[in-house]
Amino acid sequence: MSHPVRYYCPHCGAVVELDREGYLSDKSVTPYPLVGWEYRGPDEDYDDADGVRLVCGDDAGVEGLRWTGDRMTADDVAEPGAESPCGQEFYLSFVRFEEGEEVDPEPEPSHVEIAAEGPSGPRGPDGPSGFGL
Ligand SMILES: [Zn+2]
Repeated sequence: MSHPVRYYCPHCGAVVELDREGYLSDKSVTPYPLVGWEYRGPDEDYDDADGVRLVCGDDAGVEGLRWTGDRMTADDVAEPGAESPCGQEFYLSFVRFEEGEEVDPEPEPSHVEIAAEGPSGPRGPDGPSGFGL
């Protein structure tokens, strides 16, 4: 038996209902894919994947997926003033287990990139430069 579960777009807050099997547990909804998770579209067999890749406002012609027309005004909605549905992708991630242990996602890659960008002194000739082209 499946039953509808409600999620909302982390970009604009548009509410979607997705029919889910009861035994699957959800970990999070994020605007980016988690590192190590395998996603499928809502029109694919996502119960065998680690999560679902959704496009805000797009039901992909899938029967178990409905945009309700409601809009969440939660604090974690990134663009509450933006047009909704916004058409951006977001990711529903299931809880994953490896060897009986729940897997925690690695930090978002862009966070790692930002953290690695410390003060680095003058760039050498290999560094990016707008000159000399
Ligand atoms: Zn949206």
